[in-house]
Amino acid sequence: MADRLPIYEVESAILAGAREHRRLILSAPTGSGKSTQVPQMLLDAGLLGRGQVVVLQPRRLAARLLAARVAWERKSELGGEVGYQIRFENVTCADTRIRFVTEGVLLRQMVQDPELRGVSALIFDEFHERHLYGDITLAQALELQERRRPDLLLVVMSATLDAARLEEYLRPCRVVESAGRTHPVQIEYARTPSYLEKRPVWDQAAAAFCDFVRSGGEGDVLVFMPGSFEINQTIEAIRHCEESRGLVLLPLHGELPPREQDAAVARYDKRKVVVATNVAETSLTIDGIRCVIDSGLARIPRYDPYRGINTLLIEKISQASADQRAGRAGRTAPGVCLRLWSREEHSHRPARELPEVKRLDLAEVVLTLKAAGVADLRKFRWLEPPEEQALAHAEELLTDLGALAPPRTPEALAGEATGGPCSTITPMGRQMLAFPLHPRYARMLLAAQERGCVYPACLVAALTQGRDLLLRNVDRETAALREELLGPTAASDLFLLMRAWNYAVRKEFKLEACRRLGIHALTARQVGPLFEQFLDIARREGLEVEPREVADEALQKCILVAFSDRVARRVDAGTLRCELVHGRRGTLARESAVQSSPLLVAAEIREVEGKDKSVNTLLSLATAIEETWLAELFPEDLSRALRCFYDSASRRVYAEEQLRFRDLAIGVRRIEPPPADEAARLLAEEVLAGRLTLNEWDHAVEQWILRLNLLAQWCPELGLPPITDQARRDLVQQLCHGAFSYKDIKDKPVRPLVKGWLSPQQQEWVDQHAPERLTLANGRAPKVVYDAANPPHIAVRIQELFDVNSTPRIAMGRVPVLVHILAPNMRPVQITQDLAGFWREHYPRIKQELQRKYPKHAWR
Ligand code: ADP
Ligand code: MG
Repeated sequence: MADRLPIYEVESAILAGAREHRRLILSAPTGSGKSTQVPQMLLDAGLLGRGQVVVLQPRRLAARLLAARVAWERKSELGGEVGYQIRFENVTCADTRIRFVTEGVLLRQMVQDPELRGVSALIFDEFHERHLYGDITLAQALELQERRRPDLLLVVMSATLDAARLEEYLRPCRVVESAGRTHPVQIEYARTPSYLEKRPVWDQAAAAFCDFVRSGGEGDVLVFMPGSFEINQTIEAIRHCEESRGLVLLPLHGELPPREQDAAVARYDKRKVVVATNVAETSLTIDGIRCVIDSGLARIPRYDPYRGINTLLIEKISQASADQRAGRAGRTAPGVCLRLWSREEHSHRPARELPEVKRLDLAEVVLTLKAAGVADLRKFRWLEPPEEQALAHAEELLTDLGALAPPRTPEALAGEATGGPCSTITPMGRQMLAFPLHPRYARMLLAAQERGCVYPACLVAALTQGRDLLLRNVDRETAALREELLGPTAASDLFLLMRAWNYAVRKEFKLEACRRLGIHALTARQVGPLFEQFLDIARREGLEVEPREVADEALQKCILVAFSDRVARRVDAGTLRCELVHGRRGTLARESAVQSSPLLVAAEIREVEGKDKSVNTLLSLATAIEETWLAELFPEDLSRALRCFYDSASRRVYAEEQLRFRDLAIGVRRIEPPPADEAARLLAEEVLAGRLTLNEWDHAVEQWILRLNLLAQWCPELGLPPITDQARRDLVQQLCHGAFSYKDIKDKPVRPLVKGWLSPQQQEWVDQHAPERLTLANGRAPKVVYDAANPPHIAVRIQELFDVNSTPRIAMGRVPVLVHILAPNMRPVQITQDLAGFWREHYPRIKQELQRKYPKHAWR
């Protein structure tokens, strides 16, 4: 049977490409035989030597079922020649030649054995899904092939392919395409748009199924649903239909035991209906399907910035996925696909899903790559690089979690100077890597192990991962009932969630009971499996998961360790405003049970738009923490910083010592008196900016400084040190030394200090060569006015100049003094530097007129 699969039409091209280039891209429609046949082809053609072919699968379920199918085709035991290895399950032996693995398994193997000994070929299956681990494992494999393993064979397979870009990336490589054999599929849309639909999605699917059977549709039916809960509901709904009588109804999803998974792909004499997750979209082929009923939904992993983790929420699938699903109906004969959404809605769906590297939090892969020795992630060989912001965020978070540390070695430090910072993995980081979890939760479980609270920590992890369990903004009645049953306050909102969840469990998730407390029943139901999953992982990593009596404090500390990038301090007691680490601000949610603690961590940070369109950052799922815990858990992240500041209201300098957690101030202590140097500097700043005036720093002082500065220019040979801006600054600071407030400096004597700038001898030179008053030939001594931009001058009445025939000079006769000659009314009649010329030419002309005007004055 296998010989008839379309893939055999291109077998020779596949083998030739593999031999010649060691790199191959194979694109062929789903069902062509890629996953089951290509590994066998490589083995049977002798291309593996004595080594193994490893086939990477994005899904555990597919890895196991494909291995089972290939083993069956080769008539060998599963775990013999053909085996599979998924997290916590290794069904292979020393003789295994074809090994199906999930993506994380291979990357981990590469971290442990960078040469990948014993592996001859790697096949990247379902590459079109562009999983993050697939992307980076391929990048690592290319490096390995180029550097150390030229013999390693790399095959990239996909149902649909953006081959051009990939070809560029893998060059030189061979591209092999197969059109496959597919039959037409007729697509029908729902008439009512899904948002107007009142029935749950499983009832819609059951109705579509009945229509299909009643209209005489033949063949098996495949229904796509997002998860196990919806799958079970769908099976129940179909079972209740008359039309399902005599049919086999089978679920297919990853949480089922292997036996039930096998049952879904087995053949039956009767017609069958398989209700599956998107594992049946391309990973697995179920033969005989003639009708696909598509809910159009899937659980899609995506970064949730509110929770700071990747979440698996139910979302609408892209057009490309929907087409893949439809194609499942046309494998063996023409088929139909019934879409449970309208044609109009379909046109608004995205053409394809973004690759994971663009939509997931990168913390986990960054940690893995660091462990694999990739020093600089910006130089990593990305098929498509992530956003710089996403990389930076991942590194920041890992540093906060203690998984990465800044470089210590000189080489690494040198690298930092030339490019991006290259932090390295810490022993804690390596320990965290053992957990197949977001590093946040890995860190939490490690902390919980130390404190004997792994069991509740797993519940906390499960509660923070799902949607809101407790509805917000409930009415007064519900709130009162909630308070009565759950308690009014708690040291953590998560404790309330735990109580709420336990309540929902006791009430068996009954809608009515949950509604009374404003509990989202469906979310509550989904917490259970997540909780089990966390417990399972913890148990397998050897942690003690049995529930024990522990103080709340232990769990609060675990939450703190996992969310230390979200530590917040209440700004004041009167409002809910908070400051957070990394320079952020926010407001604690009004409904939070943690209303009295000055320090807290928020497991959720969401941006909400206020009534006036302003964006507010709302902190919720809060947990109270204490300063001493920060000291205990993060001794290296606490620092003390002295802060001095000038208070303009009291005109005084104050000092306080701030205790900081990373960049967040968490406590202050007043220091009295403030450090003198700092106080002097701050006061001097106020004086120099003109906001404070020194009464004694008057015009005369300024004139003296000018005289000194001018003389220093005029007579450089005197070697006088001018008072520059910097010197003025120093002088003011000296004046302020020992003072803490304006009161202390306001009337402080200035002259002695300023003059002290010069030696007595130098002071004498200033008095002599840039004198305050000039003695004229007639014995009068007018004041000289000095100015930075203009020549020095004196202003005197004509009578006072009688007998002064030459222009007075200063600065050892080098600088003529400008003379403002004034009439008796003190108005200048002449401004001159040539006094002799004035007497000779000007004076005779004005004298008569002046004499007439001022007859009482003496005129010569
Ligand atoms: P591809 O990877 O190209 O989608 P597969 O190699 O998975 O194709 O499957 C090729 C064909 O092998 C399918 O069309 C189907 O007929 C058959 N097949 C694969 N797995 C099974 C199975 N578990 N049970 C029955 N038939 C199977
Ligand atoms: Mg396949």
